Amino acid sequence: MVEIPASLRAAGVVQVAAYALPLSRRFRGTMVREGMLLQGPSGWGEWAPFPEYADAAGAAWLAAGLEASTGRWPDPVRAQVTVNAIVPALPPLEAAEFALAAFVESGCTTIKVKVSEVGGSTVDDLERLTAVRDALPGHVKLRADANGAWTVDAALSAMWLFADLDLEYVEQPCASLDECAALRAKRPPGLIAVDEGLRLAVDPASRQTRDDVRRAADVAVVKVPPLGGVRSALDIAIGLDMPVVVSGALDSSVGLSAGIALAAALPEQPYAAGLATGRLLSTDVTATPVVPRHGQLHVERHVPDPEALAASAMEPERQLWWQDRLARCAALLADRAGTGSLDRPGETIVLPSSRTVVLPVEDPAHSSPPRFSGPADAARWSV
Ligand SMILES: [Mg+2]
Repeated sequence: MVEIPASLRAAGVVQVAAYALPLSRRFRGTMVREGMLLQGPSGWGEWAPFPEYADAAGAAWLAAGLEASTGRWPDPVRAQVTVNAIVPALPPLEAAEFALAAFVESGCTTIKVKVSEVGGSTVDDLERLTAVRDALPGHVKLRADANGAWTVDAALSAMWLFADLDLEYVEQPCASLDECAALRAKRPPGLIAVDEGLRLAVDPASRQTRDDVRRAADVAVVKVPPLGGVRSALDIAIGLDMPVVVSGALDSSVGLSAGIALAAALPEQPYAAGLATGRLLSTDVTATPVVPRHGQLHVERHVPDPEALAASAMEPERQLWWQDRLARCAALLADRAGTGSLDRPGETIVLPSSRTVVLPVEDPAHSSPPRFSGPADAARWSV
């Protein structure tokens, strides 16, 4: 059993379980996804900051896990969320096969393709994108994610190279918001989305970040764990006042519930959400993995299955590492005032799947997520 830090116990957490899930294929250099599940009065939450992340980032992720297990998510305004499939940076033929299988199995009509892999060129990216485009029916939408790999000039060239592919957008073409803004000022052929530029900002909820993101991009990607929870991510999304895409973080099926809750609570869902990442995991903590049908995920919470959880147990020394890390991040989080995620302990989450309600809009000023600085190689894990 994992020891529960006192501050988490005080917030209502009654159980913590560690898991290690093998990936179905090597993803950015690793074959395993590790994390922890927290159980509290509201249900199960996930805490799975990537191993190389600093404790400051881990504390933001913990706020999200605590909200899920002891807090209350906003009410949904839709019963299903549309999701996209994701294709790793594979050679063209493999990428096309992967994309076609994902399209057939999931029914997703939006496919995100990873580009700008280390050692690859934009011509490789073009060949991959073209192979995927040619393998799929014409109505399937494509988007590309560069994880900030390009300079402004390289991104401009790449976007012109991809111009005939009619991409929905190119995600994080350059590393910084300033570079993305400079690229956007050059009027590339297509839309720009930012992902890391928002979630790694010093204060993602600040007016400054909001203005910078609006300047840099046409679309913003919002992820629950780094933004400190569903409520703070929703506040940030609404505050941005621009189209947003909800995306996951290679979560287990329990963790995906939070992304689903965010996508379900947004006033509008103009773009498919990046929550169909279940295919990247070989096993899961739930009895059945959360995978889309007809390109959609049902809006509901997913709970761990005792047998699946037992089968996903970590090696003892890894579990100790995670336990120590949890204690440090819990202490950091407890030290912070006004995280907005610990002020609703004990409330029961009601997340009906078929009820339409008026979305409660809160003042973002009262719900800013914890400040944190992201790791230099955050893109490594970005999905
Ligand atoms: Mg991304």
